[in-house]
Amino acid sequence: MPGGVNSPVRAFKNVDGKPIFFKSAKGPILIDEDENEYIDFIGSWGPMILGHSNPLIIDAIKAQLELGTSYGAPTKLENTLATIIKSQVPTMEKLRMVNSGTEATMSCIRLARGFTGKNKIIKFTGCYHGHVDSLLVKAGSGVSTFGLPDSPGIPKELAALTYSSPYNDVEALLKVIKETEDDLAAIIVEPIAGNMGFIPGNPEFLNTLRKLCDAHGSLLIFDEVMSGFRVSLGGAQSIYQIQPDLTALGKVIGGGLPVGAFGGKKSIMDELAPIGPIYQAGTLSGNPLAMSAGIALLNALIKINPFDQLEKASSDIMSHIKLLMHSKGIPFSTSSIGGMFGFFFCENQPNNFDDVVQSDDVIFKKFFYASLNQGIYFAPSKYEAGFISSTHDQLIIDQTKTRLEKAIKEL
Ligand SMILES: *Cc1c(COP(=O)(O)O)cnc(C)c1O
Repeated sequence: MPGGVNSPVRAFKNVDGKPIFFKSAKGPILIDEDENEYIDFIGSWGPMILGHSNPLIIDAIKAQLELGTSYGAPTKLENTLATIIKSQVPTMEKLRMVNSGTEATMSCIRLARGFTGKNKIIKFTGCYHGHVDSLLVKAGSGVSTFGLPDSPGIPKELAALTYSSPYNDVEALLKVIKETEDDLAAIIVEPIAGNMGFIPGNPEFLNTLRKLCDAHGSLLIFDEVMSGFRVSLGGAQSIYQIQPDLTALGKVIGGGLPVGAFGGKKSIMDELAPIGPIYQAGTLSGNPLAMSAGIALLNALIKINPFDQLEKASSDIMSHIKLLMHSKGIPFSTSSIGGMFGFFFCENQPNNFDDVVQSDDVIFKKFFYASLNQGIYFAPSKYEAGFISSTHDQLIIDQTKTRLEKAIKEL
């Protein structure tokens, strides 16, 4: 496999290292092939919000396993998961299951273009929406006129339809939107960003997106693949009280199996085949095993509603770390919402991608390895968020603090 991995961030390239191979996990603990144990703060990038190998989810998968793994035909399970999602994210009046977050955002973009009859997309620098051609684009310098593809293999002509603007910056956006003229199909955003480190959207910025989309006859797409069921039951849209036209979900809703979903206004969703002309499909979409895992996780999550507890737990760890860093004169900032958190080696909490770029790489790398040596598994890049689970109880939190104290002494 290229880089030894099936997804690049796992390769530890950002920290000049080699990936760790894991063989099992339970609650907050990951165990690698050499029997080393780590307290996990990645949680499979979100889904393990109730801890690894949660018995409710394992039992649900086992029960379905006995009944068959895929039928290529509808099941009640799909309706059940869709109904649960809709009960918490009511802007998803209708939805479709897919197999990954990438598929969800890709389908949103096609649907937005098909529905509006327009072609251009605005995204924000540092927001990641999966490896979709149209969305692997960032700004050139400052406010870019045309999108520059981030990857060879994406035609310039396609990338040119994607405009990029700095996150949390209304003024820059107003300039970019002028350049899209009457051809703006959609604005897509991570309302709480988790792919340039953890950066919550600014309420004024997000409200402006809603207004601009209404004014231009364009759709507002919230990419909540990471924030959905991670920051609160209703996602970022319930925290900010903003109604997007379309929402993309993934990660948590699959309970650790490959799932995505996208949905929104009925009038828009009904443009999809077989009712409408816009094509979207998937042989394994709504897979019974994945639906069972998602149903078990979301039902438990709704019952427990652990989001305040999760936010308290990560804040508890991170505020302790901040004091220790400051006592050593190391600039450090941190924030948490629900089960997501982040930290940066710079004094002021970053507002956008450029701020993150400027945070200290050298200290990040040192801290990452010092933590890893103490058995604390943080994301191997300053461009990723942190994730905590309901199984990170007081004992685990205290252990984490003690181990990180030792790690920080080495810096
Ligand atoms: C992870 C992620 C995606 C892509 O999901 P995959 O399942 O990896 O394809 C899209 N958008 C956001 C915000 C994500 O965090």
